This record gives sequence, structure tokens and C-alpha cells, in this order.
Amino acid sequence: MIDDKGIQQTLLCRPLEDERIQCLICRRRCKIASGDTGYCKTRRHMNGKLYSLIYGRVSSIRISPIEIKPLFHFYPGSQWLSLGSLGCNFRCPGCQNWEIAHADVEKALPSAPVCFT
Ligand code: SF4
Repeated sequence: MIDDKGIQQTLLCRPLEDERIQCLICRRRCKIASGDTGYCKTRRHMNGKLYSLIYGRVSSIRISPIEIKPLFHFYPGSQWLSLGSLGCNFRCPGCQNWEIAHADVEKALPSAPVCFT
């Protein structure tokens, strides 16, 4: 279900007895209080439900030669479609994508989801 702001309700979660919601998407299993976001900043607890703030929203999209990807002899000469969004559930030292991985999701993304057909 997408609301009028283009925010998608997260299905992989469960309500807790203390009114927080536990996100079940990754192993962090964040327990998120109302109004807060999880560790990755992409899931927000609003009005008793958990929502994805990045559903259908991309931070980058690019077609590039397959040879620049870390694949060995995988369809040589072909192209690769890369797309990504904001947020990350890791904090790796030396991250090359820090600006997009840890940006303020709600400020950095377009206001409406992108539709790819
Ligand atoms: S880090 Fe994000 S995806 Fe992982 S459990 Fe927490 S809110 Fe969910």
C-alpha cells in the first residue's frame, strides 16, 4: 500500500508489546519507536505502522560495461544496469558511497517514486 506521499508500508515487521515495531528486513532487527527510524534510516514508524522511505526512489542509475564490475568472464562485452537507493545497515570504515549510504533520506530523495517500465 502506497500512501498519498508515495511512502510504502513495510510488510516485514511485527508489532511489539511496548508499542514499538520490530523491522524484520535485516539481521539488525531494529525495534523502532513511534516517529523514529531504524538504524539504516530507511524505515520509519508512523501511526503504528512501519514504512519504507525509499520504495521506488533511486539515488543513482547507470548503464555501464560489464567489465567494470567484479564479475569474471560474465557475458563479456555486455552492459550492466546499476541502480541504488539511499540508506545502509552497515557502517564500514572507508565506505566509498558514504554520501548516499548515510544521507538524510527524507531530504535527499525526490518527493515521488520513480516508475520503471
Ligand atoms: S537496519 Fe533498517 S532494514 Fe535493518 S532491521 Fe533496522 S530498520 Fe530494518
